[in-house]
Amino acid sequence: MSTHHNRAGLRYAIIGAGMAGLLAGIKLGEAGEDFTLYEKADRLGGTWRDNRYPGLTCDVPAHAYTYSFEPYAEWEAYYAKGDEIRTYFELTAAKYGVMPRIRFGCEVISCIWRDDQACWALGLSTGEMVEADVVIAASGVLHHPRLPEIEGLDRFAGDIFHSARWQDDAGIEGARVGVIGNGSTGVQIITALHERAESLVHFQRSPQWIMPVPYFRYSEEERDAFRRDRGLIDAIRHDKDYWANIHRFTQAITDIDGPEIAMIEKVCLDNLENSVRDPLLREKLRPDYRAACKRLIYSWCYYDAVQQPNVTVEREGIARIEPEGVRLKDGRLHALDTLVLATGFQADRFIRPTEVLGRNGVSLDDVWSMRPTAYYAVTIPHFPNFFMLNGPTGPVGNFSLIDIAERQWGYIEQLLAPLREGEVRSVEPKAEAHAAYEERRVAAARTTIFGSGCSSWYLDATGIPSSWPWSYEAFAEAMAQPVMQDYILTSVAEPVALS
Ligand code: NAP
Repeated sequence: MSTHHNRAGLRYAIIGAGMAGLLAGIKLGEAGEDFTLYEKADRLGGTWRDNRYPGLTCDVPAHAYTYSFEPYAEWEAYYAKGDEIRTYFELTAAKYGVMPRIRFGCEVISCIWRDDQACWALGLSTGEMVEADVVIAASGVLHHPRLPEIEGLDRFAGDIFHSARWQDDAGIEGARVGVIGNGSTGVQIITALHERAESLVHFQRSPQWIMPVPYFRYSEEERDAFRRDRGLIDAIRHDKDYWANIHRFTQAITDIDGPEIAMIEKVCLDNLENSVRDPLLREKLRPDYRAACKRLIYSWCYYDAVQQPNVTVEREGIARIEPEGVRLKDGRLHALDTLVLATGFQADRFIRPTEVLGRNGVSLDDVWSMRPTAYYAVTIPHFPNFFMLNGPTGPVGNFSLIDIAERQWGYIEQLLAPLREGEVRSVEPKAEAHAAYEERRVAAARTTIFGSGCSSWYLDATGIPSSWPWSYEAFAEAMAQPVMQDYILTSVAEPVALS
């Protein structure tokens, strides 16, 4: 039976009130569209809500880590702190009228495509079932903490918690604190805690490449100048050195024998040589894999922190956790009051555990059984009118995910246009187009620096880098205009196949 209904007046469901979901809400609100934003927590902010660890800073220059349409004069320093960023998103969501459209404490448990209605049925944690014509999945990337597989984690007598589940009442002041994990998170925590803890042990399984970066605070006069002259903010945002660095960085990722990556390695090694005085400590901190294979650490103060007398860098492997502390493989014990697990996230989850069933009941979990993937990181064959922001195979690295989400939104808007016009019932990528994209992507990904031989969350379960393997320009170009021949547009006039 044909349901020949006009699609004007689409209903949108946005999943997740973090940076990307709020972007979608702002843009749909401005276009006068009917949307609801579902957020499982009781507060917005996504990663900036979950992460509250001491030292939390975004290592993208603050003025470049904002929506392009909403500059912010109030940043305290060149790099913003986590709570400042959360405030920015709260102010921006309020300013654009998104707050009343967010349903807090409401998790989307399932999304099921109904072909006869050409819409999605969403099962909510409240027990309700709601319908949406379009789903925008903005559910984040790094949001499921990964606990290390270390014996005895549950036997530790002190405070023990993951970095993204910070316990405010944990013993830090004058306490013996250990931090397991040496990614961007572990490094930032160490730089903040050494002044507060009596002693601090940084357990490192792999040393890191540390890129020295400038850090300075903005004065009240400078902030006032930013308030009066947006051009000053734009000058930082569009700074040619900042963009030159991004282009150089993506060049370095894709040309692993080229001069750009050699330069990054030299700058980091010079930083190590010039900053760390004790030769034994310097060797402990020296990485034995290629720079940028794991996410580069940007820090202006980590090497200072680890040279403080109360800080120990521990490279010996961990045998187990005991009630008193961390027992090393060589038999030594680090007695501790508090143990922070800065051990990263399950990076392959994306919208899961939400159950997503597309055409004919095809399950996203099955489609992603080998690795999460999407056509140009945004759409998935057999999942009509389903769009992801910061979905699988998008760019990752040392740049602003806000810029990435905005470019993806520009792409999504172009795919939404035929739906909004009311002539088309659904839009989804062709399976062959996606397969060809994924084949090219995987082939290119194997040769990137991410695949050069290190462990990291950039790798999928088969050891292949899961991210965008080409340049930033190539990403910007791909997002500027979808290849419409690669999409199936089903007309509202077409009869619906009853499944
Ligand atoms: P991560 O980069 O995945 O680092 C996890 C750390 O835990 C690694 O050092 C890892 O060692 C260690 N580890 C894991 N399991 C272990 C075990 N069983 N025993 C010992 N060590 C273990 O996680 P993250 O630091 O939370 O950062 C995740 C991502 O969040 C970053 O890459 C970045 O994208 C984002 N982030 C960004 C910022 C920013 O400023 N923009 C700040 C923080 C985080 P191995 O290296 O040996 O595996």
